Amino acid sequence: MNPSHTSLPRIAVLATGGTIAGQAGDAARTSGYKAGVVGVDKLLDAVPSLSQIARIHAEQVASIDSKDMTPALWGTLCARVNALLAQDDVDGIVITHGTDTLEETAYLLHLTVKSDKPVVLTAAMRPATALSADGPLNLFNAVTVAANRAAWKQGVLVAFNNQIHCAREVTKTSTYAVDAFRSPEVGALGWVQDGEVRFQRAVLRRHTLQSPFEMSGPLPEVEIVTSYAGASRASIDAFVAVGVKGLVIAGTGNGSMHLTLQAAVADAIKQGVAVVRSSRVGAGHVMRNGAAPDDALGSISADTLNSYKARVLLMLALSKGVPASGLQAVFDTY
Ligand code: ASP
Repeated sequence: MNPSHTSLPRIAVLATGGTIAGQAGDAARTSGYKAGVVGVDKLLDAVPSLSQIARIHAEQVASIDSKDMTPALWGTLCARVNALLAQDDVDGIVITHGTDTLEETAYLLHLTVKSDKPVVLTAAMRPATALSADGPLNLFNAVTVAANRAAWKQGVLVAFNNQIHCAREVTKTSTYAVDAFRSPEVGALGWVQDGEVRFQRAVLRRHTLQSPFEMSGPLPEVEIVTSYAGASRASIDAFVAVGVKGLVIAGTGNGSMHLTLQAAVADAIKQGVAVVRSSRVGAGHVMRNGAAPDDALGSISADTLNSYKARVLLMLALSKGVPASGLQAVFDTY
């Protein structure tokens, strides 16, 4: 027996583009298509059973390939999410997004959405026109999660391939597989299947209403530099010369840096640039004073954040005016 229509949760679906809205000339094509073409109404039409689980309000916020995501669009999206969640008649939000930068947008919103209501991002690895497209089921599952009371107070979530991930931990780990997302070390938060939603662990780091960060204007410029055999200091020197406010090092191993890079980092910090050490490894934490003398250098350890998420947190912290002396506490808390 279906619940009566008016008792169903009201979920806003905000579309931004991506492969989930991708179009190829041939149904057998799963590469070489154009992302962000199919409109939100068509995405919803492909999942008629959504009307059994939620009342849907749809908005097309953008139509981009998420490789082209910008902080300006993050600002627009964040403002729309916060405005909708402030309405009594909205119970949760689903955002359709490209997979390429989904983890960055998800973490940005995790820190800047001011509500306990669910915000769930989803995406697809195959375009909407593909045989066996994964978008429709991912969208159905994302709405299922957003409509479920257990998803409240969990921060921003990612529903993908039957799994539910925390925005802070999730990362894209495959270029083409349909199980393209993982939360290294900690694993998925839970699962969603056939209308069932189960959470298996808690989100411990602060987010949403416990986060002081907001998208209140343009974010300060923060760039990422990778360390590798024979790395030169040219990129760091160039970034400092153009006035970046922060740098994230995607270090080797435990956030270690080539000696040449470390010398450039020391110079950058002396010039007032905030520097965070993360790891290019893809799993594990970066120890403060472990592979580099953070106390002496003035650098910050990213703990378990990957470089892209460390960049998001550093931009938000600098935009909030957190001084250099307060940055490690920020990275230990969010
Ligand atoms: N390039 C696409 C995007 O991020 C890839 C995808 O959505 O899977 O928009």
